[in-house]
Amino acid sequence: MRILLTGAAGFLGSHLTDHLLDAGNEVVGMDNFITGKSENLAHLADNPRFKFIQHDVSNYIFVPGNLDAVLHFASPASPNPNSPVGYPNLPIQTMKAGALGTHNSLGIAKANNARFMLASTSEIYGDPLEHPQSETYWGHVDPIGERSVYDEAKRFAEALTMAYHRFHGVNTCIVRIFNTYGPRMHIDDGRAVPNFLKQALRGDALTIYGDGKQTRSFCYVDDLIEGILRLLSSDVHDPVNIGNSTETSILEIAESINKLIKNSAGLEFKENLRGEGDPQRRQPDISRAQEILGWSPKILFEDGIALTLEHFKKQLGIK
Ligand code: NAD
Ligand code: UDP
Repeated sequence: MRILLTGAAGFLGSHLTDHLLDAGNEVVGMDNFITGKSENLAHLADNPRFKFIQHDVSNYIFVPGNLDAVLHFASPASPNPNSPVGYPNLPIQTMKAGALGTHNSLGIAKANNARFMLASTSEIYGDPLEHPQSETYWGHVDPIGERSVYDEAKRFAEALTMAYHRFHGVNTCIVRIFNTYGPRMHIDDGRAVPNFLKQALRGDALTIYGDGKQTRSFCYVDDLIEGILRLLSSDVHDPVNIGNSTETSILEIAESINKLIKNSAGLEFKENLRGEGDPQRRQPDISRAQEILGWSPKILFEDGIALTLEHFKKQLGIK
């Protein structure tokens, strides 16, 4: 297949590019580097099946030649207001990537009669009142809070994707991605796992926002990519949750990272700047992915962290 992947220079986009190339596909990567990095794709410079186009997907997208699939992953993704790449600091770009970027990506998919995939998110469930979250849950989302620029853009993107499927017959699919971590996350990304790894490797205390009792369910990147590839090659159109269903409190995550890295600086409790918008609980119901894609995550948190650690050591110049 010849595949257009937006957001290719980002964390997930660069891993997905590697896996798609390994499977024998041609990939056209597109990115404007607003939160991604060219280093994530540097190893592909000599690959004849990889092309790169620097472009902002909020503007009309043109790619010469036929495309068999369009995967729309371009969007800032970190909710951390302390991070330069966090979407609270890029609110308009985030809304444009989710709204205009999705429209342009669907447009080029339609013109090529290509399979289209939207990278959606567990954030469309908001601060969920149903637990765990299954695809049939409609969510509990603040339409005007700090997170709304991301959450509502992704909800709009899902609605637009279904409209192109129903009205134009485009062969679409929607992956609702839950918290994923791994190598190539931006060192200043500000999400929990990269923040904790950076702090622990520097021998600093790990910053816990609020009381740390809020929960998340963390998936290692290779597991997620396997689910994405299975969804891409299926004929499913309804949204599918892909994530790890092991639910852990942020406190437990921080303590286990300190233990693994033998960091004795402990924890530092800070005011949660994300306030009430910070979801209290999050855990995917993955029965749909298990049933229709035969997919389940395999990698344990400790093993995934060990693999991620090497990347962060290199970034920080630690041997
Ligand atoms: P990332 O910031 O590492 O990657 C996003 C990429 O998109 C970056 O390379 C960035 O430069 C690019 N980009 C952003 N706006 C663009 C624009 N207008 N034009 C061109 N390129 C643009 O983040 P990530 O974690 O890899 O997330 C990738 C996708 O997956 C996003 O759509 C995100 O919403 C979704 N997602 C990720 C997670 C996760 O846990 N990592 C969870 C849910 C959803
Ligand atoms: N968090 C934290 N300390 C940090 C970074 C994050 O306590 O240094 C908390 C954050 O408030 C949230 C959870 O960890 O409750 C997960 O945050 P992350 O940014 O990883 O992703 P989210 O699931 O909120 O999108």
